[in-house]
Order: sequence, then C-alpha cells, then structure tokens
Amino acid sequence: FSLIQRETGFISGLVTVLHDVTEQQKNERERREFVSNVSHELRTPLTSMRSYIEALNDGAWQDPEVAPSFLKVTQEETDRMIRMINDLLSLSRLDSGTSKIDMEYINLNEFFNYILDRFDMMIKTDNEHTGEAASVLDHSKKQYTIKREITKRDLWVEIDPDKFMQVVDNILNNAIKYSPDGGTITARLLDTHNHVILSISDQGLGIPRKDLANIFDRFYRVDKARSRKQGGTGLGLAISKEVVEALHGRIWVDSQEGHGSTFYISLPYEPIEDGGDWDES
Ligand code: ADP
Repeated sequence: FSLIQRETGFISGLVTVLHDVTEQQKNERERREFVSNVSHELRTPLTSMRSYIEALNDGAWQDPEVAPSFLKVTQEETDRMIRMINDLLSLSRLDSGTSKIDMEYINLNEFFNYILDRFDMMIKTDNEHTGEAASVLDHSKKQYTIKREITKRDLWVEIDPDKFMQVVDNILNNAIKYSPDGGTITARLLDTHNHVILSISDQGLGIPRKDLANIFDRFYRVDKARSRKQGGTGLGLAISKEVVEALHGRIWVDSQEGHGSTFYISLPYEPIEDGGDWDES
C-alpha cells in the first residue's frame, strides 16, 4: 500500500492494493506437483523396463523359461506408457479448451443400452476364451453380470457421444477392475424434471472415506500398486470429470469400503412436452 502524503507532511489518504496471491500460489503449486507426478509416473515403467532389458541383455534372452515373460512385462509397460501419454494429451486438450466438443442430441436411453451391449458382448467372448487373457484388463477370470435398470422413456440429451462413451467405458472398466470377485454391476438411468442421472454400481473393493474427495484428482489412486498392476494410469477419472463438466454435467461417487461403489453422472435435460402447441387446436 502507499500513503498519500501532502507536502505539509499531513497524511490525507491511504491506497491499498490487494492481490489475491493465494489462488495464484495454489495454481503454481498444482502445476509443479503435476510435472513432478508425470515425471515420476513415467520413470517407474521406464526403470522397470530397463531392468528387464538389462537382464535379457545379460543372457536371459537365451532362457526359454524367463525370456517370454520378461518381454511381456516390457511390452505391457510400453503399452501403459502410451496410454498415459494419450491420457495426458487428452487432458491437456481439455484444459486448454482445444478439445473439439461435438454436441449432438442423442437418445440417451438407446445410447446407454448400446454401450452396455458392448460390455455384455465382451463378457460373452471372455467366457468363451477362459484361460486366455482376452485383454489387458484381464476380465476373463472374473464372473460378472451387468444388470440394467433403465427408464423406458426416451431421453433426448445434448452430449458429445464419443467423449461420453469414453467416460462410461472408463467407469465400467473400473467397476470390473476394482471388483476382484466379479459380482453384479448395476447400470441405472433415470430422469428428474431437469436432469438425467446415470449411475453404475459395483460390489467391489469400495473406496475408503478419506480418499473419496480426491478420487477425481490426476494420478490419485487408493492403491498405486494395484492400479499399476491392472494397467491403470490414474488419469481416467480426472479425464471423465473434465469431459462431464465440458458437457455441463456433474460426476460424483458414493462408496462404502469393502462393499462397493456407485458412480453418478448427471446431465442437464429438458423434457420434450407431449402434445405441446401443435396439437392444441
Ligand atoms: P486408474 O484406474 O487408472 O488407477 P482412475 O482415475 O480411473 O485411474 O481411478 C482412480 C482411482 O480410483 C483408482 O486407482 C482406484 O483406486 C479408485 N477407483 C476407481 N474406480 C473404482 C471402483 N469402481 N471401485 C474402487 N475403487 C475405484
């Protein structure tokens, strides 16, 4: 601040300029943490790959017992790094607003059923190939069913279908990943007077209360080792949140440790009135 002082020495005023530096400091701290997280997250798979490659180089390549599994690990780590970079690029596009959002009116009822049909198909194929790991996520060893509780009403909602599908896929994949014994996944869709609410419940590990508030943060995992083992990047929910917010919606979670979790997405919705002006006469 500065004092306004007359030549006589008399102080006639006081000008104070307040800058809110807390917000600025917070952003700067978050940016630093993010860079440090990214570096760490990329160093981990690289260090692990380096030791496997060194071992192969030192002669393990000739050992038919270990060589294939060492190569498999390096391939999985490479795949995970590629997924992570792709996730980081998506996030950075969403952050900078350069991610193109193609809004369309979609019948959400039909679209949600379509997304779930794909998962049902995956369960079927996985069960037919028991023993073989059908995907990175290794769904094959789990027995799970998807129950649908979906309104029969057509709900026309404005969304970017591709991006929205990524969000629902991510939540469904998590429901499977974090449910060690399989179980039932319940997919619900209902409408209130101005929102549609979609939810996915699982009977898996659940999320401890102390972690609930952070679960949508970048790189936040309840159990880093488990997430990595499952091929996770720790960015899926952060991306989901950005996407849902870009669609003017909200995403949240309710969970009980040891019993399961429910993820909710709500989107703005304007019901189309039956009848309306056209049929009035
Ligand atoms: P990732 O699964 O790649 O680690 P996400 O951003 O998708 O990253 O999820 C962040 C964390 O949230 C996970 O590591 C896990 O600890 C927790 N999580 C997400 N979905 C579930 C779920 N359905 N049940 C229990 N924990 C979950």
